[in-house]
Amino acid sequence: MTPITTFFRNLEAKCCASCGQVISEQAESYATECYTCQDQASTDAYKHYYKKN
Ligand SMILES: [Zn+2]
Repeated sequence: MTPITTFFRNLEAKCCASCGQVISEQAESYATECYTCQDQASTDAYKHYYKKN
């Protein structure tokens, strides 16, 4: 039987650090943000970098 603390730890690890949305089980273990936030962050970073140069 899985201890309740482990259950909540796993649950927390699968939530997006940015918007709190639950990340799908297909997400890589190192990902702390959902695909939407990751894509948005990389897009913003690219735009910022592009404008700057
Ligand atoms: Zn998110």
